[in-house]
Amino acid sequence: MHTPEFNFDFSRPKDQKRFEVFQKQYPETVKEFVNLEEVEAWDENLSRYAKEHYKKYASDKHTPKLLKEIQADREDFEDRIAPKISSKILSRALDFLGGRKTDMEWENLLKQANFDFEELRKSPDEASEKANELISVVVKQQTYDQAIQWYKNIGFELSGFGKDDDFAGLRGHVLDIFGKEIIDKCLISKINCFPDRINVSVGGLDYFLPPDLYKEWESKMPQVKEHTYRAESCATFNTDHKFSKKFVRTPINIYSFYAEEVVDARYLQEIPEPERKKVYKIGTVFHEIAHHIYGYMMDADKRVEWKNIVDRSGIITDYSNLYVSHKRKYEEAFTESIRLKTTTPRYLIDNFPEIDKFIKINFPDIKSI
Ligand SMILES: [Zn+2]
Repeated sequence: MHTPEFNFDFSRPKDQKRFEVFQKQYPETVKEFVNLEEVEAWDENLSRYAKEHYKKYASDKHTPKLLKEIQADREDFEDRIAPKISSKILSRALDFLGGRKTDMEWENLLKQANFDFEELRKSPDEASEKANELISVVVKQQTYDQAIQWYKNIGFELSGFGKDDDFAGLRGHVLDIFGKEIIDKCLISKINCFPDRINVSVGGLDYFLPPDLYKEWESKMPQVKEHTYRAESCATFNTDHKFSKKFVRTPINIYSFYAEEVVDARYLQEIPEPERKKVYKIGTVFHEIAHHIYGYMMDADKRVEWKNIVDRSGIITDYSNLYVSHKRKYEEAFTESIRLKTTTPRYLIDNFPEIDKFIKINFPDIKSI
C-alpha cells in the first residue's frame, strides 16, 4: 500500500486539531491511514478542563474558510476535471508507472511535489487507480506556478502587529530578507498577530486565552505548557496531495510570546541582551515563512541532500531538537536554520558551515537582518 505523505502525529496538538477537522470532512480517507487508538490517547484531563472553563475562548476564525475553499477545489477536481482526463494522459501515466519511457516533465513535477513515485510504482494497487493518483498529483503541481502568477501582484496582508514595536517595519523586513520572488513563491495570504492571546491546543480545539487566564491554568496544570503554540503555518494544506487538489494561499498566525523563555537560547548570545526577545520574535515569523519555502521549494533531490547535511550536523537549536524523532525532523531543522541564517548569521557560519553553504547555494536571495 502506498504510504500517503499526509500523516498525523497525535503527540502534536496541532495535528490533533487538523485531524479532527479532516475526519469530519473525509471520514473515508481517515479510515485508510489513521491509528484510532492513538486518537483516544489524547490528553483527556486537559481537554475536559478546557471545555469546562474556557469554552468561550475556543474558536478558529481562519481555517474553516480555507478548508471550505479546499473542499470546493476537491469537488471541482472530482466532478469536472477527473472525468475529462483523456486516454492520452492516462496512457502517459501508465507509461510513467511502468518506467517504459523517460518523461522528464512529469518526473520534475513529481519531484517538486515530493511525491514518491518509485513507491507508487511498486504498489500492488490496480494500475488504473495508481494512474489516477499520479495524474492528480501532476495536475495539482501544475497549479503551483499558476497560483504564483495569479497572486504575485496582490502580496500578503499583515494584521495585528500594530501595537508591538518589536515588529515595526515587518513587511519591509520580510521582503528585504527573502526577496519578492521567494515571498511570491511562498503563497502567504496573511500574517496575523494575536499579541494578547496564548494559543493552547488540546483535544482537537484551539483556545485563545488572555495571559491571566492562561497563567491560572498553568499554575493548576503545568503540563498545559506543552500544548501552547507561539505560531503556526498552514503550508501543509498545500503539500499533502490527498488533502487539496489545487495550490491555495495560506495564512501564518503568530500568538503571544508571554509564555516564552528564550533569551538564553545559545544562538542569541551574540545579540545584545535587550534586543534578544525582539530578534527571537522576528525570527519566529521567518521560521514560519521557512515552512512554506521547505514545502514548496525544496524538491525531492534537495531534500536528499538536506537530510544528509542535517544528519551530519547534530542539534541545530533546542527547538529543532524537540523534533529529533519526529517525521518533521528535517523540516524543523530547515526552518530553524533559516531562523539562524536570517537573524544570527554569524552563529550559523561558525557552528553549521555546511548548512550555511547549502542555504547560500540553493537560496542565494535570502539575507540577514
Ligand atoms: Zn516550525
